[in-house]
Amino acid sequence: MEGLIFSVSGARGIVGKGLDPGVLAGLAGHFGGWAGRGLVVVGRDSRVSGEMAMAAVTSGLLGVGCDVVDLGIVSTPTVEVAVRKLAAVGGIQISASHNPAAWNALKLLSSRGIFLTKAEATELEARIHGGPPSWQVWDRLGSRSARSDLSGVHVDEILASPLVDRERVAAARLHAVVDCVAGAGGEIAGILCERLGLKATWLHREPTGRFPRNPEPVPENLGELAAAVPAAGADIGFALDPDADRVAVVDETGRPIGEEVTLAVVVDTVLPQVGGDVVVNVSTTMAIDDVAARHGASVHRTPVGEVNVTERMLEIGARIGGEGNGGVIVPAVNPGRDGLLGMALWVTALAREGAKTSELAGRIPATVMRKEKLEIKGISVDQVLEGLESGFPGAVVDRTDGLKLLLDGGWVHVRKSNTEPILRLLAEGRTADSVDEMVRKTRRLVAQAAAAPKV
Ligand code: MG
Repeated sequence: MEGLIFSVSGARGIVGKGLDPGVLAGLAGHFGGWAGRGLVVVGRDSRVSGEMAMAAVTSGLLGVGCDVVDLGIVSTPTVEVAVRKLAAVGGIQISASHNPAAWNALKLLSSRGIFLTKAEATELEARIHGGPPSWQVWDRLGSRSARSDLSGVHVDEILASPLVDRERVAAARLHAVVDCVAGAGGEIAGILCERLGLKATWLHREPTGRFPRNPEPVPENLGELAAAVPAAGADIGFALDPDADRVAVVDETGRPIGEEVTLAVVVDTVLPQVGGDVVVNVSTTMAIDDVAARHGASVHRTPVGEVNVTERMLEIGARIGGEGNGGVIVPAVNPGRDGLLGMALWVTALAREGAKTSELAGRIPATVMRKEKLEIKGISVDQVLEGLESGFPGAVVDRTDGLKLLLDGGWVHVRKSNTEPILRLLAEGRTADSVDEMVRKTRRLVAQAAAAPKV
């Protein structure tokens, strides 16, 4: 299975170059064997390879005797909700999330409707390396059915939350521009806006899978939305990623507030209602610490990867958390990242507080964050991290995930990506100059460590 990346985020690769029908059917067969004979829910995002992948995954699952419920093109959180609603033994979402169109991936869900834990992923990996799946004979194959109502069920779950105030939102007569990036979010976002009484103007709502821009919802990719919001006289702009588990916000003036601040505002408005502590990953903005402190809460930080956040939230009973990339998690609704829930919480905050989007964002302490990628071909990651640590003497060292160095007024974090063959470099500080200096120094130290002879 050359060219495949297997991690807590699932199995991911480039279509036709590592990820092909045979590989997908095999992976699905192994997953079905691991999950146990029973019902498996399968959905997909809109990407062009989705139809091929759906057929292959279905074939693999049927072949080991699982029954398949095909949800068609749906958001990732919809598959999570469906696993629990239909009491399935597991779920598969076919989506490479924010990766470009050439990629696809399987996001694997246990019977809890959450991503496989590290231990579960290790069990599955052992099966994958231990020979072919247990293909069944003709009268022990599974059967396939389809459901098209689960997006509505998912919206019902969101609207049932006391944190979402449908009456207030409708009364506020809010207007949102929603950029679905031709991904899976168009249908469900439409149902949500309609039931919330939210006026919507749409960008790229058709799920063609031909992404009109880089699908990662970070500010530099949101130019069209940023122009459309003030042009429409709208109150807010939402950018979903292709599988709609993440959302980023553009304010009424057309300024992208950043995916980190998108989560921080939700925490700021939800925390006073639910109490308890906050769980985020180690790469999430330090503004979360300021927001939590404002409400007398503590912040727990986990390794990057949604399941790590989810697991910790369930463990300590946290009611709000997520990942700083725009992934909001409220376990009472869905213990996974949910872009639709993020939208509902945002418009509820606007309606309840009678505030503008820019005002809510303005309550979050300003920081500057840089997110960069470093090539890791042929270098020793451990050696690089050690070189980095010794280059910042006096920093507080956090080894939760890769290496995070807490410095005066900021931090630097370098870790191996779960989803791409790169190192991720993140840095945050109070001023642009201080962050740029941290990034420059980190890049220099990484280059030095990478060039040093391997020990
Ligand atoms: Mg995603």
